[in-house]
Amino acid sequence: MLLHTWLPATLRGAGITVVETSGWTGRSHGSLPDKIKVVWHHDASPPGDSPGALNWMISNWSSSSAQVWIDRQGRWHLVGTGVAWHAGKVKSGMPDNFSSIGIETDHTVNESWPAAQLDALRRGTAAIFAKQNCAADWLHFHKTICDPPGRKVDPDGLDLGTERATVAKMIGGGSPSTPTPPTTPTPPKDDNDMADITDAQMNQIADKVLAKLTAKTVRMNTVDGKTGKETATDTAFFAAVGATATDAARAAFRSSNYYQ
Ligand SMILES: [Zn+2]
Repeated sequence: MLLHTWLPATLRGAGITVVETSGWTGRSHGSLPDKIKVVWHHDASPPGDSPGALNWMISNWSSSSAQVWIDRQGRWHLVGTGVAWHAGKVKSGMPDNFSSIGIETDHTVNESWPAAQLDALRRGTAAIFAKQNCAADWLHFHKTICDPPGRKVDPDGLDLGTERATVAKMIGGGSPSTPTPPTTPTPPKDDNDMADITDAQMNQIADKVLAKLTAKTVRMNTVDGKTGKETATDTAFFAAVGATATDAARAAFRSSNYYQ
């Protein structure tokens, strides 16, 4: 099965704005099964609108990408039509690259989710499941399927059980009677002192951390590879999203908190 034969119409039928990127119907690493599971991700791009992340996914399709990218306005940008290398290594029994599609979102750790983005993410996922006649437990998160556990933190700030319940209501038709407010991420326990650090101090710390990480092999929570190893793609990622060295260093530092 290839997505372009039904996904755009299904999404538009659910009221979602769909952007078909140039050439997307030709991007595939193989046919998908007739029924697909859905894995939510975040792209770890800098806070705010980061359209460069979509360009990165397109240019990086051959080695690491996902079928869909959702911007902060809630538009579904279609990147590929068949199998994509989005999941990396997963736990036994969990959906992998050949049984699921990856939905990337313009989001990073501790960034709040715009209501329009979150609504489109849920609504589109529900439309896919309704079309397949599948229940909401076909929804998975990268952070809940990855192997080893803890390798991934995306999508940040969302709870799988809560999201499955919301999607289940949408599969049943319409919205939940009370819309779920956007999630305000809770800072991790070991990150509480970050707010007290000045920009100058942060830059000093970030430079040191980045140097250390680069020396080892930077392991960022960027879009995933076929093997689950994130290495040289990080440099290309930050170049693509237009992040400055300081932004990259900061992001690397913050991500490193989650990467123990
Ligand atoms: Zn991911």
